Amino acid sequence: METKFGPAGNAQSFADAGFRATADAPGWLRGMGLTAYEYQCGHGVSVGEETARKIGAQAALYGITMSLHAPYYINLSSSDPERVEKNIGYVLAACRAADWLGADRIVVHTGGVGKLSRDRAFQNTKENVRRILDAVEAAGHSTTLCLETMGKQSVIGSAEEIFELVALDDRLLPCIDFGHLNARTLGHCRTEEELAAVLDLMEQTIGVDRARVFHSHFSHIEYGPKGETRHLTFADTRYGPDFAPLARLIAARGWTPRFICESAGTQAEDACAMRDLYEAARNAV
Ligand SMILES: [Zn+2]
Repeated sequence: METKFGPAGNAQSFADAGFRATADAPGWLRGMGLTAYEYQCGHGVSVGEETARKIGAQAALYGITMSLHAPYYINLSSSDPERVEKNIGYVLAACRAADWLGADRIVVHTGGVGKLSRDRAFQNTKENVRRILDAVEAAGHSTTLCLETMGKQSVIGSAEEIFELVALDDRLLPCIDFGHLNARTLGHCRTEEELAAVLDLMEQTIGVDRARVFHSHFSHIEYGPKGETRHLTFADTRYGPDFAPLARLIAARGWTPRFICESAGTQAEDACAMRDLYEAARNAV
């Protein structure tokens, strides 16, 4: 296993180069020296089998490791039976598309607390995660579900909460979105010390075997008093977080996570910048 880098969805430069079809993305990414791609189903799993298989075949051909982002409207803090069934259906649809794409990981958001107490919402989330894992296994899928850290304090998804959820079952991995963590802590997840504390907590909570292959989203993210407001590009110098300190930590630990860059429009170029920072850090170890 090696550390992988790639974009979330298609960058502006991909469209500017005249490409329309995502089936062309793997070859284009390979040309840039990238190794991963996250297919976006945030607004629903609408990709057809033929298209998805075509993308998957190109990804296999060009050595691009695939993951998939599940719909944003999944909310795991609800105990409403109808809602719970719907969530399971969305995840199973994502698993089917992931199988066609050859994607081994699906990223899932946990959800807002709403009118519930945080404790109740968290307990519901635990139960729903277990139900979803059972349904995924019963349907014969072996996709790893990655639970994501979220950018607003009102949503379940602090580092502590995500690691505790992932500790429930070996079939789970964390998707650490460092921009989200920096936004929800109002700028306190950006120094090497702060980032190391997140990695240490993950290792202590879920064990080093899963910690070292964690999934990650990375971008600079603007925030206000309640957390995340919008995704930026690496041109931002105000909000961060910068990738360099994280690159040093990953290289020093010899870990092999998968980094998906979610910059606004420049996600492929910024993924290249992340890869270069990581290579430099690795050469310095
Ligand atoms: Zn996400």
